[in-house]
Amino acid sequence: MSEQITSSDLLFDKEHIWHPYTSMHNPLPVYPVVSANGVRLTLDSGQEIIDGMSSWWCAVHGYNHPVLNDAIQEQLQQMSHVMFGGITHKPAIELAKLLVELSPEGMEKVFFCDSGSVSVEVAMKMALQYWFAKGNQKKNKFLSIRSGYHGDTFNAMSVCDPVTGMHEIFSGILPINYFAESPTCGFHDEWDPDSFQSMQNMIEKHHKELAAIVLEPIVQGAGGMKFYHPQYLTELRRACNEYDILLILDEIATGFGRTGKFFASEHSGISPDIMCVGKAITGGYLSFAATLTSKKISDGISGGAPGCFMHGPTFMGNPLACAVGVASIKLLLESSCLDKVREIEKQLIENLAVAKELKQVNDVRVLGAIGVIEMKEAVNMASIQKQFIENGIWVRPFGKMVYIMPPFIISERDLSFLCKALVKVIAIQ
Ligand code: PMP
Repeated sequence: MSEQITSSDLLFDKEHIWHPYTSMHNPLPVYPVVSANGVRLTLDSGQEIIDGMSSWWCAVHGYNHPVLNDAIQEQLQQMSHVMFGGITHKPAIELAKLLVELSPEGMEKVFFCDSGSVSVEVAMKMALQYWFAKGNQKKNKFLSIRSGYHGDTFNAMSVCDPVTGMHEIFSGILPINYFAESPTCGFHDEWDPDSFQSMQNMIEKHHKELAAIVLEPIVQGAGGMKFYHPQYLTELRRACNEYDILLILDEIATGFGRTGKFFASEHSGISPDIMCVGKAITGGYLSFAATLTSKKISDGISGGAPGCFMHGPTFMGNPLACAVGVASIKLLLESSCLDKVREIEKQLIENLAVAKELKQVNDVRVLGAIGVIEMKEAVNMASIQKQFIENGIWVRPFGKMVYIMPPFIISERDLSFLCKALVKVIAIQ
């Protein structure tokens, strides 16, 4: 495909193509990218900008990685897709083996699906079907925490924060679920047991109707970029056991090393009953996700009517996605990604500290390869985005949150450039 983007292409884009969370009336500008390599995106003007976003948590190895390119090209020679109903293949088996091996203890059964939101739908359906199979139709509600985000499909929307989770306008028609307060005790604070009280109260009040509790472990992403204390999950696991409620952890953003552990639940040393992974699963190459669960849940579902799990997307187990997923996970393990994330964390702490002094800034926080600058006021997206580009970096804030989660392969020099440019732009808001 020709790389040239003409002004008429851009006009067509503006008039006909919906971009994420945008209006068709006067949409915010979009920047044409013609190629991406390593940590650099090349704009059609020829300008190279350093990527601070990993394409929304996905591109952990950067772009155009030779190992991932080879994996996908090799698979393309065999088959790009084949239905998963009644058929299996090596890439799916290899990817499932890696997921089972690397995920928390007890996560043994793998359901492949197409995107993060779908994996959350699948997880919620698994929890419901488990209780239905046990003859308990009353356990059909979900409890989550405020400031959460789990995707854009209807059940996923129903457990996003009702206000900051971006789906407030649908609140009247979404399935009704419950919300506890967001944990107040930060990741680096001394554990405060009061931080769990709201959750404990909700559990005591509603446990008979709760199929599961759904939340993002340790990092609340799109709902507020907050890092909470690992003890919160330990308490939650205990309470779920005590009150017979399933625990669903959404590791879609946090999985595959981003927080400094391979999965964020490892900060607490707990296992969920059901776990969602996506985003970085294919190293950012293709849309793909998986829902993992335990033998207890799969036995429950398979032992009840109708005797099978009622879900099966067309592109389930897509071989190209599985093959690149296997290559990406092996690369993470071979490249000691967790050591690299620790180095990035150290540098983010050092390089972003200056932002704390700025009058526009409310808070600066870092965990693993995630750096967040929380502003006092919401930023003007169109103007700040332009300033980031002028300063050679790609950063996409939302509301008051200006944050970076660069590819793990970023060099010290490029990260320093990224942080300097980021702080420079923030200082002039
Ligand atoms: N859960 C979390 C924690 C996410 O960050 C996201 C995506 N931002 C999703 C679910 C939804 O994933 P997808 O966009 O692939 O549907």
